[in-house]
Amino acid sequence: MVITTEGIVLRQRKIANNRRMIVVFTKRYGKLSAGTSINEKSRGKAALALRPFTYAEYDIFKGRDSYSINTASAIKSFYSIGEDIDRFEAASAFIEYMDKVLDEEAPMPGLFDLSLEFLQSVSVTKSASETLLLAFVVKTLRTLGVAPETDCCVNCGKSVSDFGEGYRKFSVSSGGIICPDCAEEEKREGNSLIYQPDFDIIDVFRYFTSKPLKTFEKVDLRPKVRREVREILADYTDHYLGSGVLRASGGMEV
Ligand SMILES: [Zn+2]
Repeated sequence: MVITTEGIVLRQRKIANNRRMIVVFTKRYGKLSAGTSINEKSRGKAALALRPFTYAEYDIFKGRDSYSINTASAIKSFYSIGEDIDRFEAASAFIEYMDKVLDEEAPMPGLFDLSLEFLQSVSVTKSASETLLLAFVVKTLRTLGVAPETDCCVNCGKSVSDFGEGYRKFSVSSGGIICPDCAEEEKREGNSLIYQPDFDIIDVFRYFTSKPLKTFEKVDLRPKVRREVREILADYTDHYLGSGVLRASGGMEV
């Protein structure tokens, strides 16, 4: 059976007989690993479709227990990502993140569309690559079933409006905002994954969740806020999705 689907390449490696194993995030079938003998170095739309940061259409032969890409054709290459180190860093973290959090053969069409929006936005932004990455990750959490609680204390249910300003702590292991009493309790139990940012973390999460990704092409967060949000998200995605990729290059800032 041959299936046709749009997709984004996440990863590839050489295998035997001049073939490559491609891991592609497809719109209709989710993440698939497929072999191919298309030569990546050749010219033309098929070779381009195997390169990173490219949106393409694939004809994939589904065998009994493996997939094989017969033909591929690039629809759009976001090549300008490679022209800027910040864009490249954010887009590479995005690719690694998606590779980690997606299950094989589990369709996620909403996440696929969001991924295309991300690649489009990051390919044109002047200075907001990292903010776009953070907004993207926050947006994925609900679809992946691990959205943090931001309306009330995740432990006792007290509404955040009853905490008073400045008492909004975020507990990674509990999965959201916690009230001062529950924070004391968690600390006594030795939980070290509690953050108390000096900005309103609830506002940041809501802002990222409610606005379209495109909004963040031009709206950058302050570097200090960005660093701390990234740190919280790195711990959070590590804890719930087993993906520590956001932490990898956090140390690049001067
Ligand atoms: Zn509480």
